[in-house]
Amino acid sequence: MNFSQFGHKFTRQNGITRLMEDMGTGLRTPGTVMLGGGNPAKIPEMEGYIEALLADMQQSGQLTEALCNYDGPRGKSVLLESLAAELKEHHGWDITAKNIALTNGSQSAFFYLFNLFAGTREDGQKRKVLFPLTPEYLGYADAGLEEDLFVSARPTLTLLPEGQFKYHIDMDNLTVGDDIGLICVSRPTNPTGNVITDAELASLDTLARQHDIPLLIDNAYGLPFPGIIFTEASALWNPNIILCMSLSKLGLPGARCGIIIAGEDTINALGNMNGIISLAPGSIGPAIANEMLCRKDLLRLSAEVIRPYYRQKVTETIAIIRRYLPEERCLIHKPEGAIFLWLWFRDLPVTTEELYHRLKARGVLMVPGHFFFPGLQEEWPHGHQCMRMNYVPENKEIERAMIILADELEQICR
Ligand code: PLP
Repeated sequence: MNFSQFGHKFTRQNGITRLMEDMGTGLRTPGTVMLGGGNPAKIPEMEGYIEALLADMQQSGQLTEALCNYDGPRGKSVLLESLAAELKEHHGWDITAKNIALTNGSQSAFFYLFNLFAGTREDGQKRKVLFPLTPEYLGYADAGLEEDLFVSARPTLTLLPEGQFKYHIDMDNLTVGDDIGLICVSRPTNPTGNVITDAELASLDTLARQHDIPLLIDNAYGLPFPGIIFTEASALWNPNIILCMSLSKLGLPGARCGIIIAGEDTINALGNMNGIISLAPGSIGPAIANEMLCRKDLLRLSAEVIRPYYRQKVTETIAIIRRYLPEERCLIHKPEGAIFLWLWFRDLPVTTEELYHRLKARGVLMVPGHFFFPGLQEEWPHGHQCMRMNYVPENKEIERAMIILADELEQICR
């Protein structure tokens, strides 16, 4: 095809599209165990709540109102107001509605933000996005308009009891050169379930301010909603921080609603980009979120329903894994949040890309580790020894997948 450079860059094979295609077919093919994508759990209490809420909103005309009107380019203004008030009250942050913009999913916000702060500037100088801790979310990897937009750093790691381990930012070796325009970190981290500590986050905040560049915190699983965090951690925001949130992991991925909290200049820029690219963000998700806020349910359900659900599910999943995979065969990253487990097969004689194909042939979908090192310049064998699994499917499905995984590992390592 005679595409432009942009066309070629955005149509080639990449990790996130393969993942979404696997998810589309996997979720609809009977017999497949889908441990690959980032679909949130179907929590009965949340589904019941959303159904009742939608029925009320239809009755009151709020749904029709949302469907039949465009919002402004920064998104539904009542939500911007109510969210600013809630965050101010809950966290004590000094924000107003002018510090918030909505996007069609937070994924599209990364595309806006990476290309806003990195790439070639008017003076010809090029800036990059720094990921201070890999493994990091594969959805970032192809979101740059220019090639080589990302650099990243290897972590240090500590081995923990019970066959677990944890990554840390290698602060001693983290350098922020003049070519960095943005620091970005997901917290909790997709794919590992790591939650970087408050101290690590404070150091990144200081580093970003010292270099006069923003710190983007991808809070898709974090506080105060959906609140899928199992450790002690505090939320952080100041005008130099761009906090990206989402309704997806609350159980509403189809609403495609991202929420960006940042300094006013950044928010105005996002509003302009929204206007050009999508006129306005969709209205249904924001209408639902606003109603949940008005009813004081958004934070309550996150703390009382969503977090306990995932905490129990991850504990059950680890127990299932350990029934089939001993510590010598598979280490597990300490699950501190998010909806994934990150498995490390230290002595695997093949790559996890090959393991992925072998598992897929037997109806089990997981994601091989090498996709999760966007911007890492050096070859690191560790990336080919790890795999990500989503732990939300039913336990009996997970058990079936673990029997197959253990069998494949046995055959490979024999
Ligand atoms: N950030 C992280 C860490 C994610 O895992 C995801 C989705 O899986 C997203 C952002 C994007 O979510 P959405 O575009 O649905 O808001």
